[in-house]
Formats: sequence, structure tokens, C-alpha cells
Amino acid sequence: MSDDPWVRALEQLRIASSRLSLPVEVLDRFKKPDNVIEVSVPVVMDDGTTHVFEGYRVQHNNIRGPYKGGLRFHPKVDMSEVKALAFWMTMKNAVIDVPFGGAKGGITVDPKKLSEGELERLTRSFTREIAGSIGPKVDVPAPDVNTSPKIMDWIRSEYSAIVGKDTPAVVTGKPVERGGSEGRTEATGLGGSYALFAILEELGRGRQGLSVAIQGYGNVGQYLAEFLKEGGVTVVALSDSKGGLSIPTGIDDLKAVRECKERSGKLAGCYCVGSVCDLSNMEKLGGQDISPEDVLELPVDIIAPSALENAITVDNADLIKASIVLEMANGPTTREADDILNTKRKLVIPDILANSGGVAVSYFEWYQNMHDERWAKEDVLAKLKEKMNAAAKAVYQASREYDVSLREAAYIVALKRLSDTI
Ligand code: NAP
Repeated sequence: MSDDPWVRALEQLRIASSRLSLPVEVLDRFKKPDNVIEVSVPVVMDDGTTHVFEGYRVQHNNIRGPYKGGLRFHPKVDMSEVKALAFWMTMKNAVIDVPFGGAKGGITVDPKKLSEGELERLTRSFTREIAGSIGPKVDVPAPDVNTSPKIMDWIRSEYSAIVGKDTPAVVTGKPVERGGSEGRTEATGLGGSYALFAILEELGRGRQGLSVAIQGYGNVGQYLAEFLKEGGVTVVALSDSKGGLSIPTGIDDLKAVRECKERSGKLAGCYCVGSVCDLSNMEKLGGQDISPEDVLELPVDIIAPSALENAITVDNADLIKASIVLEMANGPTTREADDILNTKRKLVIPDILANSGGVAVSYFEWYQNMHDERWAKEDVLAKLKEKMNAAAKAVYQASREYDVSLREAAYIVALKRLSDTI
């Protein structure tokens, strides 16, 4: 079996649909994206030369509403990845039950090598290339890996200039003061904690005394760490792309760690005691440096891959000691690795449930923009909790009814909702 994400997406579709006896014509709707858009993105660089980047937008399916999904800026972005991510958005939006279809986009670029001006020109150039294919009732992009609220605001500004009207609802994940929703920044991490706690409750299992190791310390990983800690889980290890830290008794001051990462650009060395974050504290805290890969093999109760696809493969699945895998990244587990985790009776809370909090609040943001409303943060977060609990319950019940894993159950819930709409 290939580690190609699109091949894996089709395999997940095949397995789940075999339980449902869906008509072939319904199934065929999901085997191919509706639209595949590939564009050249010319950018004038700071040195005056023009560099042409490759950009993608894949619109997988819109039977439940406008296409919706993030934009990723990363050197490894390619068409297969974007197609799979768009497919997963169709399924995720059905699981969390928002009236959106699925899409995804990206640019093959290492944004860390660009100046702020180059990044803005890249974003605006890409927006011009895809402007005819997006819009509040057509396709609504959002942040993903390496794309921020500021980048979303550039898209809104460029799109609005093209259509001659300020159109905040063309993207979600905007800064709050520029039409974004309260609660969107933390939504995916917070939603992941709600999904975990709801599934534990369904299983009659408590959460106190649990420990977690998190791979990926961006938007998702940072907030997940903070909300799991708030919920009583001990955060034992964190990593970004370059390294990480592990403190078996728990990382106490997550705020200081976050500020240290913001300051230094890396997590490694962020051993914080009071305001001092320094390697010299490592011994005092009983900590040690750890690689992004080793984080997933620590002796903890929960691991949360929160970075990129294919973090758990045949090479490391057997080495995982945690009994719970909370999939915050999209597609972090390959098909063969998933089989290993199932055989070892690990509880895998699948990506299309675990990380669906982001798109839930994206839907709230879009709704507020479309109706010219502003909701208070507490209302947004209460609605998020309601959505996550309902989705977790539906997935858990399907897993009991069909006697399948939570992953297969999530696809069953999604495919039923999608086929009911056709
Ligand atoms: P992000 O803010 O760009 O952060 C990504 C994090 O992953 C960074 O800390 C990055 O390290 C780290 N990373 C990159 N490559 C890595 C590697 N090989 N090993 C370990 N860590 C690595 O992205 P994000 O928004 O948090 O998204 C993370 C995942 O969640 C993605 O799979 C995304 O599709 C999924 N997701 C995101 C949202 C959302 O609302 N943002 C919603 C649903 C799903 P550096 O800090 O060193 O760059």
C-alpha cells in the first residue's frame, strides 16, 4: 500500500462504503474531485527577479454547501496531497455537520525563506489566479500549515479589490479586528480536547492522571497543549520541526514556552523556570531534548500528531506506547500503520473528527460575516463544544452499531450524511 495520501483517501472511502451498500453512482461522486485547479503564481522577489511558484486548489465536492478548506504553504505541497486533503474536508464537514463541501489548496514554497513583502505578493498573486473560482457562496479558503490570519486578510483584501466590494466572507480565519470570529484561533486545538474528553466519557474512562506528548507546535499543537492541560492532562513533551523538549513530570508553564518559541523560533531549549527559558534549567526540571520523531514513542497515555501527514508509519507504529492516538494533523497515520494500531487495540481518534473544531468555528465566522453579526467568544466556544460533543457521540455510536474503529465509524457517519443529501 502506497503512502500517497490520495491513494489512502480512496482506500478509506472503499472500506467505509462497503458497510453501507451505497449505490455506485453515489460512491463515484466522491472518487474524483469536482474541480482541480493548478496555477502558476508569478512573484517579483525583493532582488527584482520574478519567480514562478506552483499553486493548487482542489474542490472535491459541494453537495452539502460551498467548498471549504485550508491553504497550505509548504515545500512538499503537491497535487496528490491537496486532493487527499480536499477529500478529507468533504468528510470532515459532514462529520461535524456544517453546510460546507470540501476543498483544499496550497503553494509549493518554503515561506520561511521569503521576506514579509514576498509572502504578501505571493498570496496576492495566488488570489488573483484563483479569484474566479472562489467566493463566499462558491469556495471559502482558511488557514492551514504556515498560513496565518494575516495571510487570510491579504486574500480578503485582494479578492475584494477584484470584485469591487469588501467581501470578508471569502475567507475564514481572519484577524478578529478584520472580520474574523472570536475563538477561531484556538478552535482546532480546543475542539481536539473536546473530542478526546467526549470519547473518554462515552467509554466511561476518566481523564485525570493522563499524560500527553504532542508532535507539532503551531496553531493546533500550541492550543491543544494548553487546553489539555486545563482539562487535567499532564503535557509531558512538545516538538516542532526542529526538535523538542520532554519533562516527565510535566511542562508547567506553557505560556512561557510559547513565548520562548515565538522569540527564538524553536522549541528546543525552552526549559522555562519563571521568565527564564534556558538549557541551564534542563537538569533542574529533569527534562531532556527530544526529536520530533521520538516524541511519538514516549511512554505516555496519549500522543497527538499535530504536524503533517505520514507521521505514523510501519516504521514506528510498533514502537508507540501510548494507548490513545489523537490525530490532530490531517492524515498523520498511513494505512498499514493504522492496521498495526488497530491490532494493538489502540484508541485512535481520527483526524476528521479530532481536528474538525477549526472548520466548525470557520463556519461560525462565515455565518457571522454573511449575516453581519458579531458573536461573543463565550457563545462561539459554547457552540463549538456542542458541535464537537454531537460529532463525537455520533461517531462513537456508529462504531458500536457497526462494530468498527472510530475512523471507519467517522467515514460511515460522513457518507450517510452526504448520501442523504444527494
Ligand atoms: P502550523 O501552525 O503551520 O504549525 C505546524 C507545526 O508543525 C509547526 O510547529 C511546525 O514546526 C511543525 N512541523 C512541521 N513539520 C514537522 C515535522 N516534520 N515534525 C514535527 N513537527 C513538524 O500548522 P497548523 O495549523 O498547526 O496545522 C497542523 C496540522 O493540523 C496540519 O496537518 C493541518 O492540516 C491540521 N489542521 C489545522 C487546522 C487549523 O485550523 N490550523 C485545522 C484542521 C487541521 P515549526 O514550528 O518548526 O515550523
